[in-house]
Amino acid sequence: MSTIFSKIIAREIPADIVYEDDLVLAFKDIAPQAPVHILIIPKQEIATANDVTEADELTLGRMMTVAAKIAKDNNIDESGYRLIINCNEDGGQEVFHLHMHIIGGRKLGAMLP
Ligand code: AMP
Repeated sequence: MSTIFSKIIAREIPADIVYEDDLVLAFKDIAPQAPVHILIIPKQEIATANDVTEADELTLGRMMTVAAKIAKDNNIDESGYRLIINCNEDGGQEVFHLHMHIIGGRKLGAMLP
């Protein structure tokens, strides 16, 4: 089932896009939890972390290298940041199109509240 993120990929709804290539798209989170809060998504629809396969390994690796680039571009690479992928209800996943949060720009505190 398509989500709002597919509409962002298709440019059917606006987003503040910061990076795009053949495999992934990155854009600012609409409700940022920190000065830097960016989402990286695969262009291919993958619902959750449970649904990844070996065929997705290039895309998943790209998400990591793009995360490192975005961290550097936003000057949080040295100060530090957190990468989060939520999965399903207990993980707090709200949008069922796999995405990695890059969060930084302030002290994030303990890993879990
Ligand atoms: P998650 O809880 O991991 O599924 O996170 C979903 C994230 O998507 C939340 O941080 C939302 O603020 C963000 N989000 C939802 N709709 C949009 C949108 N149209 N543009 C940017 N970010 C969005």
